[in-house]
Amino acid sequence: MKLETLSIRIGREIERDAGDIAPAIHMTTTFERDADGAFSRGYTYARAENPGRRALEQCLAALEGGVDATTYASGSAASLAVFSLLRPGEHVVAPIEAYHGTAQQLRDLLAPMGVRTSFVDLTDLNKAREALSSGARMVWIETPSNPMLNITDIAALAALAHEHGALVCCDNTFATPVWQRPFELGADLIMHSSTKYFGGHSDVMGGAVIVRECGEIADKLRAYQAVAGAVPSPFDCWLIRRSLTTLPCRVRAQTDNALKLAEHLAKHDAIEQVFYPGLSSHKNHAIARKQMKGGFGAMLSFCVRGDRQRAFAVAARLKIFSRATSLGGVESLIEHRQSVEGPHTVTPPNLLRVSVGLEHSDDLIADLDQALKSR
Ligand SMILES: *Cc1c(COP(=O)(O)O)cnc(C)c1O
Repeated sequence: MKLETLSIRIGREIERDAGDIAPAIHMTTTFERDADGAFSRGYTYARAENPGRRALEQCLAALEGGVDATTYASGSAASLAVFSLLRPGEHVVAPIEAYHGTAQQLRDLLAPMGVRTSFVDLTDLNKAREALSSGARMVWIETPSNPMLNITDIAALAALAHEHGALVCCDNTFATPVWQRPFELGADLIMHSSTKYFGGHSDVMGGAVIVRECGEIADKLRAYQAVAGAVPSPFDCWLIRRSLTTLPCRVRAQTDNALKLAEHLAKHDAIEQVFYPGLSSHKNHAIARKQMKGGFGAMLSFCVRGDRQRAFAVAARLKIFSRATSLGGVESLIEHRQSVEGPHTVTPPNLLRVSVGLEHSDDLIADLDQALKSR
């Protein structure tokens, strides 16, 4: 089945006692035992299992083409679940441009527990090979990257990682399964911040880890989820499951808008450079075309002509775009990334990142034009 069908049909067939077309929300922390003490209905306590979470996980596994998924209270809880697979003395290779929260987990939580991370420019396979030569347990991939939208060749890097016996996890938050299929390219695990496109409406936090195959790693993640306890609430699961029904059409429409904005900004006098993998001028456009399925996502960044102050002034004059962090919602957001990234940032001071929403592209372009005009 295609994504549009899976997103509507998988995991929405539960508890039809009353014939509900939309799934019920199981607002319960605990479940009834049978007279003999067994749990024949399969549920014991909501941290371990609950029906709405199970339904969401089945749908996410289907969307990414995996066998199972575990979901969490945030994307950060999901990445930490993946890092829980590591042991003292093990080595991780992660992108130099990893999402700052992911990098912070590796630096502040994993390093004190004896897990060493090399932050490397993974768009350069020679650098990846060099980092892997000293042995690695895990390679973390995030592509397109944040906020420069650089592209890592997932198939080439996964092959290299596997030669060295490393597990490959791909953060597929920006591309979504609509445009990028990491399992088909060799990844072992896929991580998502469901706070972004999966939730899609800027009103719910969540995270997920999808596994390509059953086995020890899948079992460890399932056990970790219940023991660590950073599980999503029944209502959060319901909201995300509901939003998934429109994921393919939202992401396609937002991507159409993003391409129009990128093309417009690329020829604008007040813009120094646009970063969008769908532009033929993008330095990794060829790899993006090879590994993304006909669309390049709805995130883009641009550098204004001028300094940090000029970037702030442009963002301040926008009337439709909201100045806020995060991404993937129906409303367009703009953000000065350097000022939120902390001391390790390599982001240019005149860069603004845009999460392109579902407003009409004509209105978004007109708004950018008026903001870029006045000095
Ligand atoms: C937001 C984000 C995360 C972290 O997710 P939270 O839900 O904020 O914890 C991880 N990776 C990427 C690419 C993200 O955009």
